[in-house]
Amino acid sequence: MGTPAAVVWDPALLAYDLGGDHPFNPVRLELTIAMATQFGVLDGVDLLSPEPAADTEIERIHDVAYVSAVREAPMVGWDVGHGLGTPDNPVFSQMHEASSLVVGGSLLAASKIASGAANRAVNIAGGLHHAMRDHAAGFCVYNDCAVAISWLLDNGAERVAYIDVDVHHGDGVQQAFYDDPRVLTISLHQSPMTLWPGTGRVTELGGPNAQGTSVNIPLPAHTRDPAWLRAFHAVVPSLLKEFQPDVLVTQCGVDTHEEDPLADLYLSVDGHRETYRVLRSLAEEHAGGKWLALGGGGYQLLRVVPRSWTHLLATVLDRDIDPAASLPPEWVKDVQRRAPTALLPRTMGDGKDTAYEPWDGTDTQPVDSVIRDARHAVFPLHGLDPDDPRD
Ligand SMILES: [Zn+2]
Repeated sequence: MGTPAAVVWDPALLAYDLGGDHPFNPVRLELTIAMATQFGVLDGVDLLSPEPAADTEIERIHDVAYVSAVREAPMVGWDVGHGLGTPDNPVFSQMHEASSLVVGGSLLAASKIASGAANRAVNIAGGLHHAMRDHAAGFCVYNDCAVAISWLLDNGAERVAYIDVDVHHGDGVQQAFYDDPRVLTISLHQSPMTLWPGTGRVTELGGPNAQGTSVNIPLPAHTRDPAWLRAFHAVVPSLLKEFQPDVLVTQCGVDTHEEDPLADLYLSVDGHRETYRVLRSLAEEHAGGKWLALGGGGYQLLRVVPRSWTHLLATVLDRDIDPAASLPPEWVKDVQRRAPTALLPRTMGDGKDTAYEPWDGTDTQPVDSVIRDARHAVFPLHGLDPDDPRD
């Protein structure tokens, strides 16, 4: 029998607020927790309040000079460098404190798994996968994903697999472990040809000591659930089976949704829900049940993020929600009061069918060229046959 899942949440995490009309608005987290609570998903669950991560933990991944710059930026005001003070990464009051708290949340979640207190843990405020060693990028100040992975490697895990389903390439995490054979990073994202940050090609395979441990699946714009799931299943399970991670860490960004304003994949909430269920079974099959789930992108604040991440919380807690279920009436009332013109969905899904045809080794769908390229680049490095659909 599994141990209970750990859920990290504290309203203090809402202080990671890039301000104004920046798309990364913390209301996305607030509305998610409200929806999950009103659904009963969190009934009887002890929400864990994090402490800010110590500098020594943040410096597993980030330069000392960068951490100092983040701490001092609100006082310096402008021209602080390190990617700070840009439209994407504006300086905000208490930036270091709020960003360290996000890292502390992912470390707390990781520590519950490492100690055996929980098999699964989730921090929806985490998933800031673009932050780099010496600079902020893509709304991300500190890379909580990479810090948590590094911490896990020092606390009992010999191998960690990281799967990133955000619409953007998980570049900061890939970079942090590019030449580390203990970490397998797999990112599915919209093609770098058409979306920032312009990396995540199948040819990015890892450094000389870790060839094949960076895996990229760049999908064409307008990819829908069935093609996305076909690509996922054609590449990811075989690699996990071969790699045998001790823990599965996932970045669960939901900016792949058709209605997301920042990108052009066409997934649905039903597709997100299905993805979480697949990640859960992969953790059970290939990572001893150990699953650290983090948030990420997602900018359709009212119609998408709360539903998708309520499904994420529910999946982590084995309290799966029927996509045909109605939205909690109290939640709807509250959002209508705050955003009277918003058109809200009626149900917990988008009514989309997530059935897909498994890849069979032939080229029959547009996504199959991506599948072929990704498998040919990486499978031989793991002793797998790229042309055999059984591998
Ligand atoms: Zn994203």
